[in-house]
Amino acid sequence: MRPEILYPFFAETVSLPGVGGRIAALLDKITLRRVVDLFWHLPVDIIDRRACPALADIKYDQIVTVQVTIDSHDPPPGGTRRPYRVWCHDANARMQLIFFHAKGDYIQRQLPVGEVRLISGRVEVYNEQLQMSHPDYMVTLDCKDEIPRVEPVYPLTAGISGKAMAKITRGALDRLIALPEWQDKSLLDREGWPPWIMAVQAAHNPVNHGDLQPDSPARQRLAYDEFLANQLALEIMRRQHQKKPGRSLMAKGLLKQQLLDNLPYQLTEAQRRSAGEIESDLAQPFAMMRLLQGDVGSGKTVVALLAMLTAAANGAQAAMIAPTEILARQHYSSLREMTKGMDITIAVLTGRDKGKAREKLLDDLRAGNIDILVGTHALFQKDVAYHDLALAVVDEQHRFGVEQRMALSAKGRQGTAMDVLAMTATPIPRTLTLTAYGDMDVSRLDEKPPGRLPIDTRVIALNRLDEVVQGMRRAIASGSRAFWICPLVEESEVLDLAAAEERFRHLDQIFKGRTGLIHGKMKARDKDAVMARFAGGDLDILVATTVVEVGVDVPEASIMVIEHAERFGLSQLHQLRGRIGRGTDKSTCLLLYGMMTAAAKARLKIMRETEDGFLIAEEDLRLRGAGELLGTRQSGLPDFRVASLEEQGQLIAMARDDARLILHKDPALKSERGRALRILLYLFERDEGVKYLTSG
Ligand code: ADP
Ligand code: MG
Repeated sequence: MRPEILYPFFAETVSLPGVGGRIAALLDKITLRRVVDLFWHLPVDIIDRRACPALADIKYDQIVTVQVTIDSHDPPPGGTRRPYRVWCHDANARMQLIFFHAKGDYIQRQLPVGEVRLISGRVEVYNEQLQMSHPDYMVTLDCKDEIPRVEPVYPLTAGISGKAMAKITRGALDRLIALPEWQDKSLLDREGWPPWIMAVQAAHNPVNHGDLQPDSPARQRLAYDEFLANQLALEIMRRQHQKKPGRSLMAKGLLKQQLLDNLPYQLTEAQRRSAGEIESDLAQPFAMMRLLQGDVGSGKTVVALLAMLTAAANGAQAAMIAPTEILARQHYSSLREMTKGMDITIAVLTGRDKGKAREKLLDDLRAGNIDILVGTHALFQKDVAYHDLALAVVDEQHRFGVEQRMALSAKGRQGTAMDVLAMTATPIPRTLTLTAYGDMDVSRLDEKPPGRLPIDTRVIALNRLDEVVQGMRRAIASGSRAFWICPLVEESEVLDLAAAEERFRHLDQIFKGRTGLIHGKMKARDKDAVMARFAGGDLDILVATTVVEVGVDVPEASIMVIEHAERFGLSQLHQLRGRIGRGTDKSTCLLLYGMMTAAAKARLKIMRETEDGFLIAEEDLRLRGAGELLGTRQSGLPDFRVASLEEQGQLIAMARDDARLILHKDPALKSERGRALRILLYLFERDEGVKYLTSG
């Protein structure tokens, strides 16, 4: 339950002065829904009105505040588009004020001839004449305080002016109340950080450009608050997982040796290292929480299998969950292939399995006749009971929520925590691993299996599409298969789909009956069928929207065409390209571009230069900012409201150490500072784990 002290912060924006339903809807478009959202919506610039030069000294366009006397009015003749002009002067020079679409008497009333006014706005030097269009402020001398010396400039959305936005935000800031301090006093002293309420106020009232920088004390303080909330939340989950005793699974060696003998290859150094890390986690008497990070094709499956064999060697069971039916079945068949001739029973369970066969499988599972069960969400179902589940492997872990991971954990032995091995093919920069996976230990497969041919990546203008198709015709004649990914039109599946269907019809006319189409709106069963035809060689070309499942293995596919590659993020391009280059043939990736921005050019250049997913992730972070990495949702990265991963990421490690120390000393967050930290968790809406604190 959110602490009462925070209630006013979480009121909807309509409760603010000047915000009606229409404005609230506009604010909502830039995710400013509640008062607290406005706290985090920081200015990006300032308007500095402190310059008060004599008119004669103004030599270039600038923002000024000047004291002038009004000389005369020059209204436009009726029916013309000429602006309304007002002449004014100070001691030595004259200036013209210009108003378009002016209501005559309004200006008459505001600027009576002969009177003195303070005027603030951007003055332009035009033919050695001074002009100011639509001054921002026109006040009498006794109202001079109405002109702010420095005004914050906020990121805007259509329909809300800068002035309105500033006013709305001031309304929000009026709701600020001091909160109990959750940061360590000595840290605040050392860093020179202000209390929270002052930090928010200062961040919204920048006085110079330095105040806008990510390293300003106010912004650092707020960013650190957010990172600490993030790290605390992860640490709470980690401790929760480790609270119950785990079980010690010892590597027995025999099954492992059989597997290694079975494999037609040697493990890479990275695979050996990761497998070793997992092995020693499993041997510990508490639960493993480890993430295996590695590019598509880096060989995660065999590492997971080694872990699952350790479970089996201890007479326990392992489950492996994949996000889709296709992937689950693919894992099943490759695990079967690898364990051929070994005394190990593997089964698969997906939503598609029904009736008698399913009953039989569940019986076997309960009886302990199945060592490894592979499947989809179906593995979470209520009636799926294990004989003795000791290890869960979660493939593409970001596709599963915390609750789902918990649901699976609940299927382990009563009173013990299960070992969890999560896997992801989305390499994320080292600095970000802590924020996303701070609750896990991380192993990295940063080395590709040997013998992979480099992928030839080319960047080609879309208007050379015909040449591309001709080239593809030749490649297909000599046995290649091709993925053709259609443009990301918008965040709209409908438009994506229309583009894909059109491309499909076009290619199908050329490659008659040998082209397939797959997209997100299709039923799983139909998708699988098309995918299977492509994998089996019935189809040469697979046209797809970006839904093509990560990790799908078609070794014969050696061509990847990505239409409008300039619209994709780097990580996404990398993921797509990762679906080729898995076979023995040399592969080609064609990045077709339409309109190129400088940023898009930089992205495609990196794609041409490297295949290293970790490097690409670092570049992606640098070029686009963390929020856009692959689209946050898919990347599994958390959203940060005030903190900037690129610019303030160096604070994360400190926040992590802090979080560990805090919970070590005060595991239930019961001390005075602990209670303040609970407020911090609610403030940043990272309170998911708080319930575990109270339940002891
Ligand atoms: P990931 O799940 O990381 O995308 P996979 O586990 O599916 O990758 O492995 C991709 C391919 O590489 C598979 O065909 C697998 O047999 C092969 N492979 C895995 N490890 C090695 C290795 N050490 N040497 C050669 N090939 C390997
Ligand atoms: Mg995989």
